[in-house]
Amino acid sequence: MSTPDLPLTQQQPVSLTGRDLHLSFGDNQVLRGVDIHVEAGTTTTVIGPSGSGKSTLLRVLNRLHEPQSGDILIDGRSVLRDNPDRLRRRIGMVFQQFNLFPHMSVLDNVALAPRKLRGLDSEQARALALRELGKVGLQAKAEVRPATLSGGQQQRVAIARALAMKPQIMFFDEATSALDPELVKGVLALMTELSQEGMTMVVVTHEMGYAREVSDSVLFMDHGRVIETGPPVQLFEAPATERLQNFLAEVL
Ligand code: ADP
Ligand code: MG
Repeated sequence: MSTPDLPLTQQQPVSLTGRDLHLSFGDNQVLRGVDIHVEAGTTTTVIGPSGSGKSTLLRVLNRLHEPQSGDILIDGRSVLRDNPDRLRRRIGMVFQQFNLFPHMSVLDNVALAPRKLRGLDSEQARALALRELGKVGLQAKAEVRPATLSGGQQQRVAIARALAMKPQIMFFDEATSALDPELVKGVLALMTELSQEGMTMVVVTHEMGYAREVSDSVLFMDHGRVIETGPPVQLFEAPATERLQNFLAEVL
């Protein structure tokens, strides 16, 4: 998938903690006291039914929504008083929809943020973007428009774009859900590689294989609460609650 001798990332791993996070939209209590702790260099997958608050949790953790109460810590230090833009630069995000700019080349899509936000000049940003594209196996596609690529390739470009910002943490929100089944594998392989390299990751996914085999811990949410959390073998082999048992019976 990626260039074998080039690691996808070289960041010093950090831990991420959310403590007793609450968020309501009007009278809809979407997060009702969520705790999450992701050890430095580990991957936590978040599973749960649609509408349980998984995407909102990610958006609160990078402060796209401000929590109404609770705390967010990186390496044990609260980041709630930091500039939110600074926090967001530390966290790379990959969504179900790739959100690539259609009128720009693949290379420019990856080079844009490093130029605008990290202050690289255009030569440096180009070189960086080419390197990142090489890591996801798409250097040869640098000059084409995103629409000429498969969904799986576009998602790998989106991952390269996130990695070009040199994030300390990566969030994936159903990154493979919009892909045709045969394209899922390549994206999951890349996510697996990132996990194994020791990137700190929070992955919302319906891919139970990934949750089980790759992630270090699993968090099961329902109705804005964490119902169960622990190592994958515990949750998958011995779910303690009826809610998780029912959920697994539906998705497995
Ligand atoms: P999941 O990702 O688990 O499917 P979400 O976090 O997307 O769940 O949504 C949880 C709940 O929050 C849903 O009831 C949804 O309608 C509501 N919600 C999410 N985002 C918003 C928003 N920006 N404004 C109002 N309600 C929202
Ligand atoms: Mg969601």
